[in-house]
Amino acid sequence: MASERAYSGSFVLAVLWRALLLAMLLAALVYLVGRTQYYATALVVVLCGAVIITDLTMLAARENRAAERFLDALSASALETPVQRSAIPDTLRAAYDRTLASLRQNRRRQQQQGEYLQTLLDTVPAGLLVLTADGGLELINRAAHRLLGETAPRLSELPSLGAAAAAQLAALAPGTHRIVQTATGRRLLASATQFATPGNPPQRLISLQRLAGDLDAVELTAWDDMARVLAHEMMNSLTPIASLSQSLDGLLRTGGGTGEVAAALETITRRSQGLLRFVERYREVADLPEPQPQTLSLSQLLQDVDRLIRPALVERGILLESRVTPPELAAEADPDLLEQALINLLRNAADAAAEAQEPRIGIHCCIENGQLVIAVSDNGPGLTPEQREQVFVPFFTTKPGGSGIGLSLARRIAQAHGGRIAILANEPRGSIFRFSLPA
Ligand code: ADP
Repeated sequence: MASERAYSGSFVLAVLWRALLLAMLLAALVYLVGRTQYYATALVVVLCGAVIITDLTMLAARENRAAERFLDALSASALETPVQRSAIPDTLRAAYDRTLASLRQNRRRQQQQGEYLQTLLDTVPAGLLVLTADGGLELINRAAHRLLGETAPRLSELPSLGAAAAAQLAALAPGTHRIVQTATGRRLLASATQFATPGNPPQRLISLQRLAGDLDAVELTAWDDMARVLAHEMMNSLTPIASLSQSLDGLLRTGGGTGEVAAALETITRRSQGLLRFVERYREVADLPEPQPQTLSLSQLLQDVDRLIRPALVERGILLESRVTPPELAAEADPDLLEQALINLLRNAADAAAEAQEPRIGIHCCIENGQLVIAVSDNGPGLTPEQREQVFVPFFTTKPGGSGIGLSLARRIAQAHGGRIAILANEPRGSIFRFSLPA
């Protein structure tokens, strides 16, 4: 503070004495020109005045340059690499040091806050990405690094994410979630939220969670959907039952016609039975019996399944090809449950293939990557990635009269044995339902 005052004081003093000298020269000039004939002397006085004015201008310019150098010395880069002290005017050095120290402290505080925030985000087990409105990647936490590997300035440039998943994430509306598959084949549950900081456009926070084991998140959604289906079915049956019971009550009180009473009773019975059937189907999915595993020959299992479904296939002109490699391959599983799962998959394959010109389905058992795989294939219309997620939702069906429990049951059977079902595309068309069990 004191040196700033001394500095501005010395500048004012330098200007003052020059101004005083100029005033004196001006007075001498007026006197010489007005009262005497010493024109040569007057000329000298004018020259002296010009010299002082030039000096004054230079003084001001020097001050400007000093101020400029001072500000340059405080620029952002100077915070990291201090400028040469000789570049700073002597009178400003103390002020420069103080300002620099205070700027550095502020910057350190900001860095600490940034680091604190990053550490906090890194402790979150879910992968987090902050996206700008134009798809720029503002921030990425450690879990996201682990999931996506190498980072990039833009979402679409993340190599292991892939273009398809990047486009899906970019289009993910705030408050929604979906499953995306990365270029490396990893399936992630992505959820989006939106936030805005004052003075900045809104940004989206995308959280990514790995789907552990067999599609936890899909299952979660499936249970959600199932609860909705249950509520819907029950309301469909219970609402008319309730209102019919009410009108029945009225009819009985007023001694209404027996015909009306009988009709109402019949509807109630029909609805109740429908509800009972529905609950039975629900129990089939919900109460899967505990598997009783035993060693069973897969060739034998395929023969049994073949015997069961072949007549229906022959009737529909569908070709079935079954193969076990090696033929003596055995599985450690519950025979009834495994047979049930395979029949469900084969029935679906037959329904899908029935639409083809030369309907053909296949069942192939083998060992792949240490897993026992039973692949059921068809040359039907195939499934889109969206459909592949939906088909496991209990009661999801696209068939008139379909129950929508075949696949969810098959998947529960696979899970109960520590295995899973994956859906792949068949070549040149159709799908492959890949039922795998630990070998
Ligand atoms: P349902 O056969 O009673 O419809 P599922 O749970 O077995 O019930 O199947 C659910 C839905 O999945 C089917 O309605 C069908 O749309 C679809 N699906 C199943 N298997 C296949 C397949 N191999 N090819 C095409 N779509 C299939």
